[in-house]
Formats: sequence, C-alpha cells, structure tokens
Amino acid sequence: MQVVLLGPPGVGKGTQAELIAAAFGLKHLATGDLLRKAVRDGSPLGLQAKAYMDQGKLVPDEVIIGLVRGEVVAALAGQFLFDGFPRTLAQAEALDATLAESGKPLTHVVSLSVDPEVIVDRATGRRLCRACGAIYHVRHYPPPAGGRCACGGELYQRTDDAEATVRERLAVYARQTAPLLDYYRGRGLLKPVAATGDRETVFAGVRQALAG
Ligand code: AMP
Repeated sequence: MQVVLLGPPGVGKGTQAELIAAAFGLKHLATGDLLRKAVRDGSPLGLQAKAYMDQGKLVPDEVIIGLVRGEVVAALAGQFLFDGFPRTLAQAEALDATLAESGKPLTHVVSLSVDPEVIVDRATGRRLCRACGAIYHVRHYPPPAGGRCACGGELYQRTDDAEATVRERLAVYARQTAPLLDYYRGRGLLKPVAATGDRETVFAGVRQALAG
C-alpha cells in the first residue's frame, strides 16, 4: 500500500494520517511537519521556507522536491502515507517518477473534502502540543483542564492557522492543489471521502476507501 492523503488545509489530514498510519502500519511522511522542524532548527531550508509558510503560500516546488526525495527513497523500504505532498502537478509528476523507478507505484489517493467554512472553524480552533505533537480543538476536542496537553506539554496555535492565512491557504489549495484531483482520478486512484463528522466517522470512510 502506497497512499497519498489529499485535502484542503484544515480538513483534518493530520488527524486522519495518524489514524491511518497506526491502523495500516504505514510510515507517515508529512511535508508540513518536515518544514516546521526545519524552521525550528533554523536550517537554511527552514529559513527559506518560513516566509512562504507564514503567508499561507506554498514553498517552491524545487525546495519541496529536494526535501522529500531523500525521505521518499528511505520510505520505499516499507509502505508509506504522504500527507501534504504532493500539492502541485509538478510535485505529483516528480513523485510518480521516483516511484516508477522503484517499482512501487501509488495504490490509493484518499481525498478528504468538507465545506470551506467548516475548515475555517476547525483551523482557527486547532492547538498542538509542543512536546508530543498531539492535536486538539478548543471547542470540538478540548485539551484537558488547565489548557495543557494530556502529556503535560504546552499547547500552541500554528501561525498559519490565523483566519486570514487560512482563507489564503484555501485559495492556494483551489488554485494549485485541486487540479491533482483530476490527475489522480484519470489514473483511477482517487478515493473521495466526506470529512464531515467526528474523527471516527471520517476514519470509517477512509477505511472503506482504503479497502477498495
Ligand atoms: P501543512 O502542515 O501540510 O498544512 O503545511 C504547512 C505549510 O507548509 C503549507 O501552508 C506550505 O506553506 C508548506 N508546505 C507543506 N507541504 C508543502 C508542499 N508539498 N509544497 C509546498 N509547500 C508545502
């Protein structure tokens, strides 16, 4: 199983990716996480990426493709789940080329979708744990009393979860990433899943999509 998880920012990709990776034993590769780590580490890549991320824009393809190639090659030893990659046609074509060389083509492209206003609500309420990476929502999945993570870690809001940035990211998704839906539909790989309801309901749909 080689899976791509597609969907607009804030649709719940991170949450579903964790569930899928655990249930199916896949290596979870999230380009957003790789980039945030590079930013935290203050690496040259992080410095380059930060300005784009803070504005809700995509990091240029050549940066991402360079970042991901080594990770993809490493992941090819097992089965993997890409989360947040590819996000442009150029990235999808680069991924296809790498996978073709390895003889491990994609098997499923799960596409999560939901009303954009639900996304704005979800993203602006999202909080993450600095220590363990757990994801909460101030209204729909509140952290334990005291406003800290269950592990005791401090919670924070991603700068790109601010409302204006979320709306910009939705526009970027519509313009640059949504064309991938046709690209993968044409290859017979696309599995659309409605991402409405709680995480278990959505995951039931994802499970069904991955069974086919
Ligand atoms: P995410 O955590 O997947 O929502 O990604 C957060 C931010 O990282 C995005 O808004 C982009 O600025 C950047 N990013 C993550 N993945 C990619 C990608 N595949 N291509 C370009 N930019 C990306």
